[in-house]
Amino acid sequence: MTQSVAGPPYDLDDLIPELAVLGRRTTLLLPKSGSPEVRESSMGGPMLWPTDEPWPSCGQSGHWAWPNDKNPAGTVPMVPVIQLFARDVPELSFPEGKDVLQLIWCPLIHPHDRACAALPRLYWRNEADVLATGILEAIPAPKEGEYEEEFMPNPCTVSPTPVVEYPNWDLPQELRQILQPRIEELEERFGMEYTLLACAPQNKVAGYPAWNQPPDWPSCERGHRMEHLLSVTPEEDLDMVMGDLGGIYVFLCRQCPELPYTHRYDC
Ligand SMILES: [Zn+2]
Ligand SMILES: [Zn+2]
Repeated sequence: MTQSVAGPPYDLDDLIPELAVLGRRTTLLLPKSGSPEVRESSMGGPMLWPTDEPWPSCGQSGHWAWPNDKNPAGTVPMVPVIQLFARDVPELSFPEGKDVLQLIWCPLIHPHDRACAALPRLYWRNEADVLATGILEAIPAPKEGEYEEEFMPNPCTVSPTPVVEYPNWDLPQELRQILQPRIEELEERFGMEYTLLACAPQNKVAGYPAWNQPPDWPSCERGHRMEHLLSVTPEEDLDMVMGDLGGIYVFLCRQCPELPYTHRYDC
């Protein structure tokens, strides 16, 4: 996995002071080495999973991998996507008693899901509890035809890097109109789209989703607007399409005690 952009390259609030109040802290998950250990923060790496909990699988009807849309897969093991230890992401607030965040997903296309992409699941754990129980050694992997290539993260450790992001599509309409001439001037001066100046279209925690399409912020069932927790950028042609390729965005409601989550995908 290679990524050439380490987040927004300029201090936007120096260039456009009106943006300062809209700045949000983000932690970029920049790839580091290719051999993550089970007790390291990683993408696509081995997960600290308790032995008494079966590794999840997905049996959603009709889920398929290109080009087999007419021949859906059966039940498929999910794959590790992101594992973060609280010690590595100090800006991420963990629920009480938890210090590990895990994201896994079914690496197929899910036609019955509104996102029509991989199907994520989120887990919050306590590292000491898992170590006391024992770590699940053999995590099953999907076979050929049971995954979509772009939804299979290459294993790597990550180097969490804090930056500040500003809204792109989430910029309030009136402010957008006022700022538009200056935004265009900056785009010309830096030879870069405003989205790339404001937002990091890469794997990250919190901040703003780098929407490719108009924002689609989810609410939980009780009507609370959810917060952006994670962005995961699919692997395919990452360098080539940087800035054009959307991501899978995972949202969380912290107002509800059961911490409901959901996802969006823009392609
Ligand atoms: Zn599935
Ligand atoms: Zn809620």
